[in-house]
Amino acid sequence: MKKPNLRLGCHLSSADGCFLAAVQANSIGANTFQTFTRNPRGGAVKPIEEMEFDEYLAGAADLDVSPILFHAPYTLNFAAAREEVLRFARDTLRDDLLRLERCPGQLYNFHPGSHVGQGPERGIELIAETLRTCVPAPCSTTILLETMSGKGSEVGRTFEELRAIIDAVGDACPAPLGVCLDTCHIWDAGYDIVNDLDGVLEEFDRVVGLGRLKAVHLNDSMNPLGAHKDRHAKIGEGHIGLDALVRVLKHSSLSHLPFELETPNEVDGYQREIALLRSRL
Ligand SMILES: [Zn+2]
Ligand SMILES: [Zn+2]
Repeated sequence: MKKPNLRLGCHLSSADGCFLAAVQANSIGANTFQTFTRNPRGGAVKPIEEMEFDEYLAGAADLDVSPILFHAPYTLNFAAAREEVLRFARDTLRDDLLRLERCPGQLYNFHPGSHVGQGPERGIELIAETLRTCVPAPCSTTILLETMSGKGSEVGRTFEELRAIIDAVGDACPAPLGVCLDTCHIWDAGYDIVNDLDGVLEEFDRVVGLGRLKAVHLNDSMNPLGAHKDRHAKIGEGHIGLDALVRVLKHSSLSHLPFELETPNEVDGYQREIALLRSRL
């Protein structure tokens, strides 16, 4: 049976603003989308008017495209050893969140960071310090830590590391703090969502709490369980497979969340994947 409230979308460019991205989402069968807050490889930030937040807010209800999951540039490192790298990441986060107050109530996802040899404990403390000191108040955006695959020295490769960040932030962050679960990343990190989805979600609930889970990145993986690689595959073309990803989409603990595809696709490929997944609901 169709679930009309299922929120399924994909990563889209907002180079022409969020309103046109929402129109594009709607045209390909998506009712949510993810987009970068700025060019992920750096460069000048777009003037706020060109994000077309007002136009999006005025038209989102008619289009039925919400929420927007904003993704921080993946080049930021909130666990960096070098002062200037850390400062740049923190300044960018603060600036992104200030700008998002013009589009209130959305989600903002970031990769926690890489400890670059300082050790995960130091990385966790630096990430938590960022969230304690660099989030502007008030902040209506829900901030999400993404689950990571554990390539290199990434922090957030286990549910315990995410819990440790959340605990170290305590109640010192003015924004709601949650988690975005990436199916490719947790698979690559060693969580067997193919053979034991219930067990993985029970573990997430025990360690982090399912109440913290606010979004899902629905990706297949080019690599086997526990590979610590982070190479996304198209839906059904990787080691996770279509059936397991459909079970994620339909799971009663998850089906109320926004799902975003970050598979190696152009827009027409996303349209086909959304249709394929919706046909399996
Ligand atoms: Zn992701
Ligand atoms: Zn990834």
